[in-house]
Amino acid sequence: MRVLGIESSCDETGVAVYDTERGLLSHALFSQVKLHAEYGGVVPELASRDHVRRLLPLVDQVLAEAGLSRQDVDGVAYTTGPGLLGALMVGAMAGRSLALAWGVPAVAVHHMEGHLLAPMLEAEPPAFPFVALLVSGGHTQLIKVEALGRYELLGESLDDAAGEAFDKTAKLLGLPYPGGPELARLAEQGVPERFVFTAPMIDRPGMDFSFSGLKTAVRQAVARLPTPLSEQDRADVALGFQTAVVRALEVKCRRALQATGHRTLVVAGGVSANTALRAALDRMAAKERGRVYYPDLRFCTDNGAMIAYAGAQRLLAGEQVDSAVTLHARWPLTDLQPPGQSAGQ
Ligand code: ATP
Ligand code: MG
Ligand code: FE
Repeated sequence: MRVLGIESSCDETGVAVYDTERGLLSHALFSQVKLHAEYGGVVPELASRDHVRRLLPLVDQVLAEAGLSRQDVDGVAYTTGPGLLGALMVGAMAGRSLALAWGVPAVAVHHMEGHLLAPMLEAEPPAFPFVALLVSGGHTQLIKVEALGRYELLGESLDDAAGEAFDKTAKLLGLPYPGGPELARLAEQGVPERFVFTAPMIDRPGMDFSFSGLKTAVRQAVARLPTPLSEQDRADVALGFQTAVVRALEVKCRRALQATGHRTLVVAGGVSANTALRAALDRMAAKERGRVYYPDLRFCTDNGAMIAYAGAQRLLAGEQVDSAVTLHARWPLTDLQPPGQSAGQ
């Protein structure tokens, strides 16, 4: 079964074709980063309009790259939430219309289920059951995953998401939007332990996170430094911040593995691209006799491949939507059901 996947929940237009027998056939992404950079964040109306411009050419492109014609597509998957409603509308309406025009089934995909399953695109995919750490621009969650659509929330951020904390701290350090990857790069030049920030919530029981206090601690540390900040000062602060975030994530992931008895940890979402995080989690899991699975670096942040993959799993199990398109700005992952039981989303 060949599935066209469409992602448009935020500021990336992603399209891909996934074949349930041959794997990922092609994928293309248009990032709107430059469009929003001068505003320092995503402007929803600009995002929607740009999805309109990019989407259909990207569909043509991935079909051409896969050597497929429209008749070769067996189903269409598109993100229906969570995300910006206007942006979601573009991808979902296009996807639903293409499926109707082509006479194939369509399926609605939860953006975070897409992220969660992205490591399944790798040559050695993880097997259920496992613990998933979702660390993205809008989410920081630990999920107990028993099977596709069987998700139990173990813990989550009580305030900012990890990616959001990276972006806000990067802004504080004068880095251009979106600052997460830039901050990580800067941290590589940092002197360890010149700035030591407390890893939030690790002294408290449970598996929740909090990152807004850390951001404040960084702001106070920066305020004590001579201005303008030297490159070394910024790198040292960046490393101190990143170390505290990584430590908090590592401690809660260990707790999640211990609490569930699972040996497999799946990490996904934009922050899963972070090298320091990967190193810390690999080390921790080795001690727990476990193993960590990550998406390819191309599929950590938003992309169409993860939507094509997630949609393909649900279509394969017989799930499909009726002709209506329902979008969800907010949508807890734990509201999902195993395939077939959540039709009509
Ligand atoms: P959500 O998936 O929760 O709706 P989103 O789609 O905006 O949010 P993603 O695209 O998964 O989020 O990830 C983007 C986030 O990942 C940004 O906050 C970005 O700064 C962060 N990020 C990307 N690469 C890195 C990195 N190497 N280190 C730290 N953070 C990173
Ligand atoms: Mg983005
Ligand atoms: Fe995302």
